[in-house]
Amino acid sequence: MRLPDPALVLLVGAPGSGKSTWAAGRFRDVEIVSSDALRAVVGSGTADLDASDDAFRLLDQIVEGRTRRGLTVVVDTLGLDPDRRATWAAAARRSSLPTVAVVLDTPASVCRSRNAGRDRPVPRRVLDAQLGRVREVPDELRREGWDVRVVAHDEPSPAVAPRLETPEDGTTGPQVVLQIGRFPWGSEPLEWLRDMARAADSAGFAGVALMDHLIQIPQVDRSWEPIPEPWVALGAVAALGTDLRLGTLCTPASFRAPGVIAKAAATLDVLCRGRAFCGLGAGWWEREHAAYGLQFGPTARRMDDLAVAAETVKALWAPGTRAYTGEHVTLPETTCYPRPVGALPLVIGGGGEQRTLRVAARWGDACNVRADLDTVQRKSEVLRRHCHEVGRPPEEVAVTVLDVAVVGTDRDDTWTRVERHRGRTRAATYAARHHAGEAAAHRERHGRLVDAGVSTVFLALPDLDGPEDVERVAALARR
Ligand code: GDP
Ligand code: MG
Repeated sequence: MRLPDPALVLLVGAPGSGKSTWAAGRFRDVEIVSSDALRAVVGSGTADLDASDDAFRLLDQIVEGRTRRGLTVVVDTLGLDPDRRATWAAAARRSSLPTVAVVLDTPASVCRSRNAGRDRPVPRRVLDAQLGRVREVPDELRREGWDVRVVAHDEPSPAVAPRLETPEDGTTGPQVVLQIGRFPWGSEPLEWLRDMARAADSAGFAGVALMDHLIQIPQVDRSWEPIPEPWVALGAVAALGTDLRLGTLCTPASFRAPGVIAKAAATLDVLCRGRAFCGLGAGWWEREHAAYGLQFGPTARRMDDLAVAAETVKALWAPGTRAYTGEHVTLPETTCYPRPVGALPLVIGGGGEQRTLRVAARWGDACNVRADLDTVQRKSEVLRRHCHEVGRPPEEVAVTVLDVAVVGTDRDDTWTRVERHRGRTRAATYAARHHAGEAAAHRERHGRLVDAGVSTVFLALPDLDGPEDVERVAALARR
């Protein structure tokens, strides 16, 4: 059982039922809005009933503000007042946030004895009335449209994120390749690269993919940050002799002549004993082409070039040196030595349904699309159709995803990372786009991607600085 997140979470229970304790163990302090705490803020203390009106005005305002921003808010009151509940639920629904009521079903005797031990106990008769109301409320909540979760006394209760984080949790994960897109290597580029690769290897990642751009892209960092030529950089990583698969995600067909891409990838493949892969895309960023004196044609032209590049590298990697005449490409010979050691996977990047996925179906060993489940399902379907049309068994073309994920060590750490990296993007939007959460939640998500047919996740961290960040996400690397 899992609570949706973000959500409006309404706590319901008698005094002493354990509401505040339950919330404190699962949410950040700032996510919990408590009428008791606000009574103490505007009044003399948590039991200052004369301060209730002021406290609830503040509480309503906080609920409105957080739900409007798409942020989780946990309402810690008795939860017994239908009018107040309606106000909060309306605020949540305006922002399409799910409304969950968590009912603490703690025995009356326990609430009574906890109450009796308090500084300012609730009068006995008041408590009895509240205990009676708590029994009626679940039905009311269901009628009002709340998703009702009952927490039985001393039973494991629903968590926001799964607690289990051990790699031995039985889930079958995808193959996970660490994608490196930023290179904050200071004055020791070689050391940094090798430390990253060693960390990825010992964390259990299946491989390392380097981004291929000529200028650092604005989505990742500032344009004056270093971004290496990836095939050269991967050569340095290959020298470590690890078991990591090595390749690019993705090499634009617009940067290098197709034959030179084939040569670079084949060379890397022999240097890393058959563990290379080659990501290939159409190229999309005009600025880097202009700066480096490269042609950047219209989309249709770049798609044609992608098809030509895919066909050319496949022709050059194939056994033999015979002349090649294919769909778009004619070569007088295919003399490419060193030859790749094994089947060198060609990963076609991009989800373009008309052209890109068709290139993947025709010449690719995999396609690479965005990591949300809807995208995966949709693109897989289109890919299957293309495979059928070009006469290729669909199982020959894997579906891989680029997953740009914020992975925190706990809920506080996760949200600190979101706040640090979101720039001007709305926090809730940034968190959703990067599936911000703890490792165990990402593992679950990866499990769902596997169920949808994904073989490999290329995991990119927007906050990747050094090997310690690779270690932080090690729980995601293991199958
Ligand atoms: P609230 O009035 O519903 O917010 O209840 P609290 O969360 O303040 O809990 C009342 C008392 O019960 C506190 O002293 C808590 O430490 C204790 N308590 C709450 N939940 C549990 C629980 O699950 N187990 C035990 N043993 N004590 C609890
Ligand atoms: Mg409380």
